Amino acid sequence: MAKAIRIAANGGPEVMQYVDVEVGEPGPGEARVRHHAVGLNFIDVYFRTGLYPQALPGGLGQEAAGVVEAVGEGVAHVAPGDRVVYAGGPNGAYSQARVMPAQGLVRLPDAIPFETAAAMMLQGLTVQYLFNRTYKLQPGQTILFHAAAGGVGLIACQWARALGVNLIGTVGSDEKAALAKVHGAAHVINYNREDVVQRVLEITDGAKVPVVYDSVGKDTFTRSLDCLQPLGLMVSFGNASGAVPPVALSELASRGSLFLTRPTLGAYAARREDLEAMALDLFGMVESGKITVEVKQTFPLAEAAEAHRALEGRRTTGSTVLLP
Ligand code: NDP
Repeated sequence: MAKAIRIAANGGPEVMQYVDVEVGEPGPGEARVRHHAVGLNFIDVYFRTGLYPQALPGGLGQEAAGVVEAVGEGVAHVAPGDRVVYAGGPNGAYSQARVMPAQGLVRLPDAIPFETAAAMMLQGLTVQYLFNRTYKLQPGQTILFHAAAGGVGLIACQWARALGVNLIGTVGSDEKAALAKVHGAAHVINYNREDVVQRVLEITDGAKVPVVYDSVGKDTFTRSLDCLQPLGLMVSFGNASGAVPPVALSELASRGSLFLTRPTLGAYAARREDLEAMALDLFGMVESGKITVEVKQTFPLAEAAEAHRALEGRRTTGSTVLLP
């Protein structure tokens, strides 16, 4: 038996119940993992509210770090006793232990503590593919990145600095602006009181940017398009303010043949060799000190509802970990 968060219906944070669950033995291709730290991500909110559908009753959570306790038939890349981390579905990481597909498990270097691993894996792998594959950033480029003081955001600020890229970060408060700057943002815009398009025009001497990374969604989407150079790429990778309504293709044409993509980590890390290469790159960035992942907030797993309230209420910065 283990403690876990389960939801029987979609809704507010109150639908999360802290209950006892049977963990069981791993079947073929599966592993049983004892969690030491669980990552909190905005995608957990989407699954809880039902913006992203799943069968109910069900679990929540896509990221954790811990130790393998047992493996099922055919599992060779991890063994009992291994320190591991994972990021991605199926939901169920909000638990003390679980049985899950072994495919997503990555062995964790000894130098990286469990809490750091759970704080960085999903968000760090996201920045890895956004900056290397969705759009291959080049030194000297200037880019726009929304929600720069969040979990994905603080990693993005540091990764951009390491690449020699000038990241213009948007944030919702002056405290968050200072934090993004310390982590490497070249410029910061407080989108609650500054005009983002105007500021981007000023910062770039009218040139605008070749790529916008937008995870805020509904509230920022159209203005993000306005920040792009002709032939620029709009990367819409999240919906913290709500889902982006359907877009007319003429919106891309009228701004100069823009490109638009809606990427997911699941697609970029689906192949085992891609996941391993991405993780290696992320671990290297952390072990070399180019990226420091601080756990900015921790909550006991039993208080996951409070963690969701803080995340949705824009009261968190950087990464948050739940302790089982
Ligand atoms: P964050 O820590 O970045 O939290 C979300 C932030 O979004 C808030 O802190 C807030 O910052 C900003 N925000 C703007 N408007 C709102 C709003 N109406 N309600 C709540 N927050 C708002 O979360 P994560 O780091 O976990 O994720 C960041 C984004 O990246 C999410 O949209 C997530 O879904 C997406 N994502 C996408 C992935 C993919 O592969 N497609 C993978 C991982 C994450 P501020 O106050 O500064 O505005």
